Amino acid sequence: MNSKVIALANQKGGVSKTTTTANLGIGLANAGKKVLLIDLDPQASLTISLGYPKPEELPCTITDLMIRSITNKPICPEDAIIHHEEGVDLIPSSIELSGMEASLVNVMSRETVLRQVLEEVAGRYDYTLIDCMPSLGMLTINALTAADSVVIPVQAQYLPAKGMEQLLQTISKVHRQINHNLKIDGILLAMVDNRTNYSKEITALLKDTYGGKIRIFSTEIPHSVRAAEISAEGKSIFRHDSKGKVAEAYRELTKEVLQNERQRQKHQSDFVR
Ligand code: ADP
Ligand code: MG
Repeated sequence: MNSKVIALANQKGGVSKTTTTANLGIGLANAGKKVLLIDLDPQASLTISLGYPKPEELPCTITDLMIRSITNKPICPEDAIIHHEEGVDLIPSSIELSGMEASLVNVMSRETVLRQVLEEVAGRYDYTLIDCMPSLGMLTINALTAADSVVIPVQAQYLPAKGMEQLLQTISKVHRQINHNLKIDGILLAMVDNRTNYSKEITALLKDTYGGKIRIFSTEIPHSVRAAEISAEGKSIFRHDSKGKVAEAYRELTKEVLQNERQRQKHQSDFVR
């Protein structure tokens, strides 16, 4: 199986990392792929939005798996895996994960703890999506170390300029020092409100500044209250508002991700030949 691990990262909060992890993940599952979602944010928004409003009551989370890895115990990822009714698996998080950021500082090979966990489980899936927390701390470094690629959701309503440079520097540092395979899949413009000129300006600016170096997904996720509603519903936009423009956009994004992956594989096999 060709398994791919994608981190959804941006140290800015509220740019739709979590919403995209859930809906791209379920989109890929709807397209017949085996998908694992990892909640790597102590706020546990992904876990909550997939229907577990009290993550602190879950018997086993990503924190437990990481602690097992650090203490050299058998990781047994299945202890934490939750099967969601829309066809994805989830390794949940809870507030307990906030302690991990500090504990990792004194751990040997602290950047690779999540990678060691994923080595036990990601091979069983076509896609593993990691929902990062809004910081560039040790947990996000762990995600970038474990990932094959990064998707960077950007909220098209605010100038991302400074933060973007910091994020790109972190990605490039991880690429250089720890994970030579790491690639940037692309920047995803989310919460786009095409009725405002401002949104158009930001989009144009991003294309000007980064379009040459980094792919910008041709799919844009529109801003819609329908998307905001699902965070409390435990289901995807495909079930909540199947005919709406956000569901349509996430279907398009799913196709684009699959298409990019096919192109990459073709390119690789051309290269091998
Ligand atoms: P992050 O994980 O980057 O912090 P979220 O996915 O949690 O971002 O999104 C931030 C907030 O915006 C949430 O309340 C979410 O429900 C809402 N939201 C996400 N996508 C959209 C969208 N396309 N349109 C409107 N609101 C959205
Ligand atoms: Mg989030």
